[in-house]
Amino acid sequence: MKPLSKEEWSGPACPACGGLPQVSVIREESGEFMAGSPRYLVCGRCALWWSFARATCPWCGEDDSRRVGSFSPEGERLVRIDACDACRAYVKTFDLREPGGKDIVPLVDDVATLTLDVWAHEKGLQRSGVSLAGV
Ligand SMILES: [Zn+2]
Ligand SMILES: [Zn+2]
Repeated sequence: MKPLSKEEWSGPACPACGGLPQVSVIREESGEFMAGSPRYLVCGRCALWWSFARATCPWCGEDDSRRVGSFSPEGERLVRIDACDACRAYVKTFDLREPGGKDIVPLVDDVATLTLDVWAHEKGLQRSGVSLAGV
């Protein structure tokens, strides 16, 4: 599926179904004019990808880089959490540029990396928007 470009949509809710993002991904984009690699949010309902500002909290819109930061457990490079100090929520982010990143299926690997959610909860962070079945 071809992700929508930033010009087409950059809101925090899915442009196709209005669903909330479940995870986000960062992937290499050739021919991209902007510095850095683009980030996408992935809809938990229809699995659409759409672009979203990298250092912005999708839940409250905080974009102060001192309040929005990334954390990952020791040794983990494929997945991390982007946490927001303003609302204490986070979104799980997969970095598809890392080795093995090509094999990541965001919505599937989200469930496979629940230990990261436990880790985030231990830091006092909350996961907004989604309620995973059985969690
Ligand atoms: Zn959707
Ligand atoms: Zn926030």
